[in-house]
Amino acid sequence: MQLMLRISKKIGANILEKKLYIVRCGEVALKGMNKPYFERILLERVRKAIECYEDAEAKWIDGLMFVRVPADIPEDDVIAKCVRVFGVASVSPAVEAPKNIDEIGRVAAEFMQKIIDEEGVQTFKVKGKRADKSFAVQSPEIGRIVGAIILKSCKVLRVDVHDPQVTLTVDVRREGAYIFRDKIRGFGGLPLGTNGKGLILMSGGIDSPVAAFMMAKRGMSIEAVHFHSYPYTSQRAQKKVEDLVRVLAGYMGTVRMHVINLLPIQEQIVTHCPEDETTLLVRRFMMRIAEAIAVKNGDMMLITGEDLGQVASQTAEALVVTDSVVKMPVMRPLIAMDKVDIMDKAREIGTYDISIQPYEDCCTVFLPKHPVTKPKLDRIEASESALDVQALVDAAVASEEIIEIRP
Ligand code: ATP
Ligand code: MG
Repeated sequence: MQLMLRISKKIGANILEKKLYIVRCGEVALKGMNKPYFERILLERVRKAIECYEDAEAKWIDGLMFVRVPADIPEDDVIAKCVRVFGVASVSPAVEAPKNIDEIGRVAAEFMQKIIDEEGVQTFKVKGKRADKSFAVQSPEIGRIVGAIILKSCKVLRVDVHDPQVTLTVDVRREGAYIFRDKIRGFGGLPLGTNGKGLILMSGGIDSPVAAFMMAKRGMSIEAVHFHSYPYTSQRAQKKVEDLVRVLAGYMGTVRMHVINLLPIQEQIVTHCPEDETTLLVRRFMMRIAEAIAVKNGDMMLITGEDLGQVASQTAEALVVTDSVVKMPVMRPLIAMDKVDIMDKAREIGTYDISIQPYEDCCTVFLPKHPVTKPKLDRIEASESALDVQALVDAAVASEEIIEIRP
């Protein structure tokens, strides 16, 4: 009894000082032998996300991550930080109670009263979950008893098992009992850094930021390369790309971006090659330069925002011609998506409004009137033979500027 009192006092003190958030992982939980590795990295990522709060902590207990943050930090703030961590499936603000059914009922009633005060709800139900089988009360009973205690204390409420305004879950586990209401969904995926490193070809458009996000969500660390045609493209256009990468950095931490002026190459192409092949020839140079930068920086793959059939340079034939200049695998995570779905994704991750700002891209400089849509590789190669390809690529790589973009 004495011990129980001490424990509940301690927990009571904790509730005052820190707020608890239960973080659930998605696919990480399905990993077999490698699960401890993924869990360790996910924990590091969550700790990094909340390190801005003094005295915040995160630890794994039996497959759930328990995050505790000083109680005066707004809940929305903490949730926004946690759901941005790739690998997090959902987050719930929670309260903990001593493992005693009356105490659980009392804490649950307090929790419910706060919800009533803030939202004026009238109907609820309680779902009991007994992960600790040594706890004497079984799951359905937990729900019934806690529900009855809440009803007694919160007179305005009634139970509605079919369509309640609020569902409280009481999760009785080995180390304590936890009460929570909402599950706020995260992006899922795998912890950043568990799946190699890739180089995104980053324009200022809608597609490439989404492509970078999707690969990072699968655990890939991301570097970026951006091509401009200054002074044909403006500094404001480059600033737009930096703004986009900054949004991405909010999910993946500081991103290094390689910036290259493509104008010398474009001028050569315009002077020496057929007009209708301009875009494709430019794209082949982009790929070559990107590959050289990737090799230099230990990036294993190139990533683009290409989408089958979206524009002339993204027909199946054009993609074959673009791909043929590089040995490195080229990831195109949007390849089979419809534009409207890509736009929705861009809105969801917060890049859309920046992407639609009307600044020019280097691809729109020297845009041919009628670009080839079914290019033949041998013809493209013949056109390119008018250029000293290697020298142009080397000069472009040597001229790179590197910018570190922080969240
Ligand atoms: P986005 O919306 O990503 O700009 P898009 O539909 O406009 O794509 P394109 O302009 O043909 O398509 O570009 C296809 C892909 O080539 C882009 O998704 C991006 O990966 C790469 N790319 C295009 N322009 C640039 C650039 N200026 N710098 C780096 N990569 C670029
Ligand atoms: Mg573009």
